[in-house]
Amino acid sequence: MTHTTIKSYAKINLGLDVLDTLPDGYHSLKMIMQTISLHDTLYFEKRKKPSIILKANLPYLPTNEKNIVYQAIRLFKETMKIYDGIFCTITKHIPVAAGMAGGSGNAAAALKAMDLLYGTHLTTEQLCEMGVKLGADVPYCITGGTALAEGIGDILTPLPSPPRAKVLIVKPSVSVSTGEVYKNLRLDESTVHPDIDSCISAIKEGSLKKLCDNLGNVLEDVTVSLHPVISEIKTKMKELGANGTLMSGSGPTVFGLFEDDTAAQTAFEYYSGSDFGKSTFLCDFT
Ligand code: ATP
Repeated sequence: MTHTTIKSYAKINLGLDVLDTLPDGYHSLKMIMQTISLHDTLYFEKRKKPSIILKANLPYLPTNEKNIVYQAIRLFKETMKIYDGIFCTITKHIPVAAGMAGGSGNAAAALKAMDLLYGTHLTTEQLCEMGVKLGADVPYCITGGTALAEGIGDILTPLPSPPRAKVLIVKPSVSVSTGEVYKNLRLDESTVHPDIDSCISAIKEGSLKKLCDNLGNVLEDVTVSLHPVISEIKTKMKELGANGTLMSGSGPTVFGLFEDDTAAQTAFEYYSGSDFGKSTFLCDFT
């Protein structure tokens, strides 16, 4: 095989709780991760010259070693002692720095593509071991689907697929610094933690109502206090018929779950015609 094309899916958090701050600055997390149909497309081609060449459709995305795809290819080459070069194009659709693990997903896609290209047949466990060196969310992005992620996000337990719903994504054009959000998070007796276990039982029972009642992200209040637009989007989405809404990751992306396809389409058209038009997507769970 000389080349391959791979889709790199976005994720949302149906639940996100921070249990503790760890001494190394990481956090102990309990999250429900879910891939959605919104994806980037990555093309990989073997080259004789040993360099890694990246091209991206967004001018502000780095194409050097700062790009996590570059780091993933380099790590795979070093670990598996591969001396070829790689040419890669990244076509981004997932908003960048949005709380949708776009970069982590691209890194996971790169490891999977390299494994395919070089016929190394690594196990999912081996790919995840490599992936966690690139980022805590990369192991989840390798497996995808619905999963409970604990530890720093790398201890994964697969879950059944959630009940069917349309997923409306709206990303306001504010920049959120993940570091700043965590810095502003106060973990004490007054912290309102989401009920992740009820979220899990809702998924297992196939109850969209219970799932929507238990969507929760402990970071949401922090990011909303910095960017109130997130709360405005949530309120409007509910008016437009969303059964539940939540901010994903550290934000600023908001998603709404709709049982009714027509309401989802109407809401999608509303946001497509608004200031958020370029960052509005109507998706499914994958
Ligand atoms: P997470 O949910 O894992 O925190 P995110 O959606 O908030 O991810 P990313 O889209 O992964 O954030 O981007 C975070 C930063 O990583 C950006 O500043 C971006 O420049 C950089 N980056 C490096 N490589 C990539 C890539 N392939 N795709 C997106 N961002 C990348």
